[in-house]
Amino acid sequence: MILATPGPVEIPLFVRETFLGETIHHRTPEFKAILLETLDRFKNITHLPYNVFLSSSGSGAMEAAVINTVKNKALTINAGKFGERWGKICAAHNIDFKEIKYDWDKPAQIDDIIAAIKEDRSIDTLFIQISESAGGLRHPVEDIAAEVKLVNEDIIIVADGITALGVEDIDTSNIDIVIGGSQKAFMLPPGLSMLGVSEKALKRIGKGKGFYFNLANEIKKQSEGSTSFTPATSHIIALNEVLKKLESIGLKNHYENTKKRHNALLHSLEELGLSIFPENPALSMAAVYFEKAEELRSILKKYEVNVAGGQDHLKGKLFRINNMGIIEDYKMAHIINAVELALDELGIRKYDASGVRVYSEKKIKS
Ligand SMILES: *Cc1c(COP(=O)(O)O)cnc(C)c1O
Repeated sequence: MILATPGPVEIPLFVRETFLGETIHHRTPEFKAILLETLDRFKNITHLPYNVFLSSSGSGAMEAAVINTVKNKALTINAGKFGERWGKICAAHNIDFKEIKYDWDKPAQIDDIIAAIKEDRSIDTLFIQISESAGGLRHPVEDIAAEVKLVNEDIIIVADGITALGVEDIDTSNIDIVIGGSQKAFMLPPGLSMLGVSEKALKRIGKGKGFYFNLANEIKKQSEGSTSFTPATSHIIALNEVLKKLESIGLKNHYENTKKRHNALLHSLEELGLSIFPENPALSMAAVYFEKAEELRSILKKYEVNVAGGQDHLKGKLFRINNMGIIEDYKMAHIINAVELALDELGIRKYDASGVRVYSEKKIKS
């Protein structure tokens, strides 16, 4: 079965192999060297000076970012399940927040955010997704961040890049914290989250908050090659190998290939008469609005393809195909072909191999 969900993604063999080695104790020069090396490599992904790994899924890093940064009030952007999570985390910690809500297919508008921070001067931290996975939506975070800093340079901007880091090169020059997750573009099992932190954010964090997720302690320790608690050693060792692989491909080539594959994937699906859900699609996936999504997903399983459905009000109305990680053309071609065969079986469109034809023209041949 091809795991074609936008997280968790398939784990390549070279990554799985790294888990077969003997356990390395975390308080050894050997592991210290690996941790420092991996953190250093990760800097090329975030372009931020301080990088830190946490033993948690992505939401743990979101919680760490929230509790360690907000002093007065947060502004959260909710255009889907993950944007909604910022508000839930704030509420769980009694942190004051204002939420701007959008339909799941609509990117955040710069003007709304600027108006909100001008209206309420107590807002000191902005939380947003780069790629909102619920609807496969890309927010214009870099532009928003630049405008926000022009109005108030003290506002800390936290970007959830869990389905953006490793997918595209993110310009973090106006972003203070960017978050990644192991089971998305980094092709690892779930369980590790990563944060890139700016100088400004480090100042705001100060002595840090919380116990397990105290970012001040963790950044200090990890910059010395140590950790406050037992780290997810196997995941970190595997992440190092993933980053080495991406370096050997060339990060630029990897990002270009991801973008080209996304373009070919979207064109193929549109050729089949399908409609892409978000107004501004993220490169991490193809999210398709389709009234018979559940029937289609179950037919796809016959062809050994597992794609994700929709959540909440989009349950049964959306299917999402992953575009993160290293995906071979033969696999993507099979996924598209399976979608076309399923459309035929549903009586929607007669099969004529248009999907693979367009994918081949846009991606394989060119
Ligand atoms: C997957 C994901 C998360 C984190 O989810 P976990 O299940 O905690 O790993 C957060 N934000 C986005 C945009 C995601 O896609």
